[in-house]
Amino acid sequence: MSRINRQWVLARRPKGQVRVEDFARCDAPVPVPDLAAGEILIRTEMFGFDPAQRGWMDDAPSYMPPMAIGEPVRGSAVARVVASTNPAYPEGALVRGLFSWQDYAVAARAGEAAPTLIPEGVTAQEALGVFGGASLTAWVGLKAVGRLAAGDTVLVSGAAGAVGSMAVQIARLNGARVIGIAGGPEKCRWLVEDYGAAAAIDYRHEDVAARLAVLAPDGIDLFFDNVGGETLEAGIAHIARFGRIVLCGAISGYNDEQPAPGPRNLWRLIAQRAEMRGFILLDHLATVATARSQLEAWLRAGGIRYRIDMQQGFEAIPETFLRLFSSASQGKQLLRLEAPDIGLE
Ligand code: NAP
Repeated sequence: MSRINRQWVLARRPKGQVRVEDFARCDAPVPVPDLAAGEILIRTEMFGFDPAQRGWMDDAPSYMPPMAIGEPVRGSAVARVVASTNPAYPEGALVRGLFSWQDYAVAARAGEAAPTLIPEGVTAQEALGVFGGASLTAWVGLKAVGRLAAGDTVLVSGAAGAVGSMAVQIARLNGARVIGIAGGPEKCRWLVEDYGAAAAIDYRHEDVAARLAVLAPDGIDLFFDNVGGETLEAGIAHIARFGRIVLCGAISGYNDEQPAPGPRNLWRLIAQRAEMRGFILLDHLATVATARSQLEAWLRAGGIRYRIDMQQGFEAIPETFLRLFSSASQGKQLLRLEAPDIGLE
């Protein structure tokens, strides 16, 4: 039986646009399951991809330490416990956590964020998709940070993505009128027909600021921004008096070699007595249980729809990550690993 642990490591820090060549394929021995007390050996089954991983590849201060060159790339995954010295994680259990691009790893070490057990009845793709960090981020950003209220006019950018599509629906289910921004006519059609936005703006083919003037003549009460750059500037230009701007992400700038100048119209925040605030999901873990149970209720009642973009196979991991930075990804970006013919079982 082969004992190879396939890995994709960070070969170098990306300069500007991330490329496949920034990663290298390595084979390492499978960690020998001589586990310290409390540790578990996991075998990855599915990866989830997040734009934030691009930021962790830079050697720059952030809310997480930078990834190390030569180490497997950090990322969300669902994995099977294949050996355990920890009664909380029995062998055979399915867990979700921040692992890395490799088949096997030792996890649940002291000081690490603990993996979460996936409850019976929840699939791996639901755990990374509809019940994963993207949905919780949308809920927390709108409700806990943005103080979403019924009757608000809400603008969501990156609205066809994993976080954005949930933000559109959570806002609508709370009685808001939602305008979504996405790239291309097909994704704009999803926003209106599938997710229930009142209107959609195709930022690739339309003038966002001009469309906002028509669609929200009284201004935007709450702007949930995933994109930054010119999109943020257009939202600021149309913020309502006492409006709130929640900065969730800034994907338009993640591959910039030099940071683009900030919005040129911040004075509008003063004129409109508006506020703008960034947030990170990790600071709101106390509200996650409430968010998850509400999402589950909406999902079971058929009130929420979501899309999964499932890619296949270990070799495709870097290309799959790159899909996030074009319009290629068609929903929450996941990758399923082929059934292993290697390992410890
Ligand atoms: P995602 O939307 O699935 O990301 C991929 C999509 O982003 C693409 O399909 C594309 O959609 C859009 N995009 C890519 N480059 C763009 C550009 N230059 N301009 C405009 N849109 C672009 O990603 P996600 O997981 O839902 O994350 C969305 C944002 O939330 C990211 O910025 C992420 O960093 C942030 N986030 C923040 C937190 C937090 O705690 N604050 C947690 C999770 C995620 P189109 O086809 O529409 O262009």
